[in-house]
Amino acid sequence: MPFNFAQIFQDDLITSMVRKTAYGLATTCVLGAAAYAGYCVAAPEKHQLRHYRHPELNDQIEKVLDSLKITDDQLEQIMHLLEEEMNAGLSPLTHHQAIVKMFPTYVRNIPNGTEIGQVLALDLGGTNFRVLLIDLRGNSRIELTSKIFLIPQSVMIGDGKRLFRHLAECLHEFMQKERILNTGVCYPIGFTFSFPCQQEGLASARLTAWTKGFDCSGVVNEDVVKLLQDAIDEKRINAKCVALINDTVGTLMACAYKDPSTAIGLILGTGTNACYIENLDKVGTWKGDYNEPKQVIINMEWGAFGDNGRLNLIRTKYDEEVDLSSMNPGKQIFEKMISGMYMGEIVRLIILDLLQQELLFLGHRDTYGDYKTPLYNRGGFYTKFVSTVEIDEGIQFSNTRRVLEDIGIRNPTYDDCAIVRHICRQVSKRAAKLAAAGLAVLINRIGKSNITVGVDGSLYRYHPRFKHNMERCMETLINKSIQFKLTLSDDGSGKGAAMVACLADDSLCKKSVVHNETTRD
Ligand code: ADP
Ligand code: MG
Repeated sequence: MPFNFAQIFQDDLITSMVRKTAYGLATTCVLGAAAYAGYCVAAPEKHQLRHYRHPELNDQIEKVLDSLKITDDQLEQIMHLLEEEMNAGLSPLTHHQAIVKMFPTYVRNIPNGTEIGQVLALDLGGTNFRVLLIDLRGNSRIELTSKIFLIPQSVMIGDGKRLFRHLAECLHEFMQKERILNTGVCYPIGFTFSFPCQQEGLASARLTAWTKGFDCSGVVNEDVVKLLQDAIDEKRINAKCVALINDTVGTLMACAYKDPSTAIGLILGTGTNACYIENLDKVGTWKGDYNEPKQVIINMEWGAFGDNGRLNLIRTKYDEEVDLSSMNPGKQIFEKMISGMYMGEIVRLIILDLLQQELLFLGHRDTYGDYKTPLYNRGGFYTKFVSTVEIDEGIQFSNTRRVLEDIGIRNPTYDDCAIVRHICRQVSKRAAKLAAAGLAVLINRIGKSNITVGVDGSLYRYHPRFKHNMERCMETLINKSIQFKLTLSDDGSGKGAAMVACLADDSLCKKSVVHNETTRD
């Protein structure tokens, strides 16, 4: 029962000494509470989070969230495993069974900023499809116009021919608007197709598997460039696909255009993947020539790391559930622990688990049965909500309250908000650590004294602490003699494709430039 000071003071039996003591005690309590509140605001990370107003929740919640924690030893173990998988992917003896495929991309020349040309780029590989017209002006200057097109869900999982016809229709509409249709000039296209492909040349690539929610029939094992070109020719569009890359390569190229230390491209968006510049003598699967430059960009397809169970040491029951309810169970295990397509869902499953254990939303029993609310439905907690929640720093929780309202929890308590923010922080920090461990393997392997990583993707771009969490973790894992830098790549998948296309077909680019100048006159 709480003290009632007023009642105590009215009691005739209380001596003045007791009264003084009570006053002293009350003052100490008030000052102590004020000091503690100030301390909490000043050090939110360490102290405020775990001290819910119902402190008995701490231990139980921590126990649930413990499964998300990865120790430094485990990270080193993961790095070691990844390097083994990489070597298996690069060796002709083991490539066939390898999980991390390490596809050579046939991209060997890195731009230096002097490239000139007018090129089209198509970007397909996740949330949207984009068509871009890019003008490389030399001196690291680029101008571009672009348009985003939606890919309807029915097309994402429909007939493959229909998908490529849809892409060609979007291209037609864009070129018409830009007045470059039927001009007598054949525009080179760089196609950013961000799905795992076995490349047989710069403009020839067979899809090995769909990922990220796509599942069109008749495309796996087919040459994607041919399927695209057939659809373009069918519509008599004056454009030719001269290069296929994925978004990691585009990101690396676009970053290298401005910063010559760039050696790695990383995507943290709908999915996750990385590429890096490898010496040809380490690429046993290389089938091209050994002329200068003796290097090639390797598209790792690292999202598949763990598909053979090697990440089971850190997988949680939430990861298993996300995987089982996905379109590709058992596949892309690393990706499912990191990327935007899955992060919000992991958070949602943890929230539901805590709710079932009566550790969260205690005042909301009345809404428990309302299974129509987003909280109870797959995908109901968007990954962008994780960013929104984590933007809250203090104790007001204005963003968190808004998000909780969106998923169907009205008037959440302070504890509810603090716990949800804590969950988001743990899930996103784990993802950042895993991505950091992957990059550390690459940076240590490349071993140059100065290495820049070009990064793209909305998760990295918009999450308030993903970059910071990655950097902190990388500092502990990377050889001290190496300086590294993470640079946000500005629209790498579009610009990078244009650069590869330009480097691939110089003559086509020059023609486009001539055409461009004549139309402007
Ligand atoms: P893509 O990878 O498809 O090319 P993006 O890089 O835009 O496209 O990534 C889209 C993914 O990023 C989505 O899965 C989405 O969940 C996630 N995302 C979008 N906005 C945010 C945000 N504000 N914070 C964190 N993740 C986000
Ligand atoms: Mg993208």
